Amino acid sequence: MNLSDQLSMTAKNHLRKTAYIFQDDEKTYQELEGAVTKFASSLQNLGYGKGDHIGLVVGNTPHFVIGLYGALRAGVTVIPINPIYTADEISYIVNNGDVKGIITLDVLLEKFEKMDKMLPKVEHYITGETSPDFAVKNSPLGAKLKPFTQLVLEGSLELDRPVLNDDDAAVILYTSGTTGKPKGAILTHKNLYSNAKDVADYLHISTEDKVLAALPMFHVFCLTVALNAPLMNGGTVLIMPKFSPDTVFKVMKQYELTVFAGVPTMYNYLLQYPNGNAADLESIRLCISGGAAMPEALLKNFEKKFNVVISEGYGLSEASPVTCFNPLDRPRKVGSIGPSIVNVENKVVDELGEEVPIGEVGELVVRGPNVMKGYYKLPEESAAALKDGWLYTGDMAKMDEDGYFYIVDRKKDLILVGGYNVYPREVEEVLYSNPKLAEVAVIGTPDPNTGEAVQAFVVLKENEQATQEELLAFCSERLAKYKVPKKMEFLEELPKNTTGKILRRSLKEIIKK
Ligand code: AMP
Repeated sequence: MNLSDQLSMTAKNHLRKTAYIFQDDEKTYQELEGAVTKFASSLQNLGYGKGDHIGLVVGNTPHFVIGLYGALRAGVTVIPINPIYTADEISYIVNNGDVKGIITLDVLLEKFEKMDKMLPKVEHYITGETSPDFAVKNSPLGAKLKPFTQLVLEGSLELDRPVLNDDDAAVILYTSGTTGKPKGAILTHKNLYSNAKDVADYLHISTEDKVLAALPMFHVFCLTVALNAPLMNGGTVLIMPKFSPDTVFKVMKQYELTVFAGVPTMYNYLLQYPNGNAADLESIRLCISGGAAMPEALLKNFEKKFNVVISEGYGLSEASPVTCFNPLDRPRKVGSIGPSIVNVENKVVDELGEEVPIGEVGELVVRGPNVMKGYYKLPEESAAALKDGWLYTGDMAKMDEDGYFYIVDRKKDLILVGGYNVYPREVEEVLYSNPKLAEVAVIGTPDPNTGEAVQAFVVLKENEQATQEELLAFCSERLAKYKVPKKMEFLEELPKNTTGKILRRSLKEIIKK
């Protein structure tokens, strides 16, 4: 099975049901299915098929959904790319990923007009219209430019569907990694289909659900959890172009949404927003958190204020992404990412790859139908990440006697203070429990005496005041001496990527400067 054929089956059963809502415009499954097939047929007419790669450089708009499913239906491999990336970042991925065509938006066209020289393999720019006034006039891209809407309109519903094999590449996701250039994780049709299905089953995502897609769709968390999983089951997706607390509360209430999926920083923004109240979230049955560690204090304060339950899960691009989730029909454990979801195995291993005893910290490794095929054109990196059939996540974790996992931290974020291990997350949890702080992050910085020192960054809540001494005293009461930050910096805001994850690299840059 694959996502494209599944959509056709779902559409058959739910023809008149709303598949997605975008800016108050609702489209049924019948309309979505038709647009996907017609777009696929136009791609075939342009010469695209199995083995070709297409870049999907659009924000959260219907073009993403039709572009993704249409390309998959034509047998084309899709490379989603963050539209706010710089020309250098985009051209690296497009060239490394052997992209033949790019699906983008009118608002980004100028960027590609300037970049075209840097992209010698690109034959077409398929441009989605976000404004009804958009008309292509005198673009230097000339015949390479293809209006998205025209391709959908002119496409045929009689499509010669290619055979999509389980093992064929469906999507290549470029992940930023820790060092060097981004690597393209190859996710097959089986990877994407199985994870969306397993997540939907595990979290009971059904035709009754209306899911808010507020995370960026080019990120795998949104792609699988907030797009593929609901579309597979006849649910409705509300496509939100840009996250803003104001709009989230508004649409939650207006459309009586049932599922919210976000990273912890989004929960933090919603919690801090002065005009949000529990009545707006009355219809929500499930709040999902993933992508980064959910601080306990944030989870508890959010649940109390809005009268909802947050279920934390864990995943990574290389695993399509979900491997663990707190269950709905067994107890949820705060601070845990839950047990393995059905069909996926997780275990904690030592440096030699041997499973460690319950409660001990080691690296989390994962096995299942969701685990990537490898990194595109990088056999050495693929072999280092995939050993004996297990994906090495680079995350340190432990498991309890009930099989629930706890992420301790990223392996690479471990701070070594005079030979002692300090995991930033532990210090961050303490700082987050201080009611004056809105956001916190902890990193290691070089120190002449102890090798590394703990450095904290904090953002005060509005109208709050605190001194460094006071906050350090707060930490000293709760942490062993070597874990207490040596330095603390007050910032207006923490640097974050578009997914809302805190950028530790940028924090290190701040220290260097
Ligand atoms: P990405 O490939 O961008 O999805 O990033 C995956 C990484 O996000 C993982 O390797 C973890 O380091 C981190 N991550 C995801 N979910 C969690 C979580 N619930 N708790 C802690 N870290 C997480």
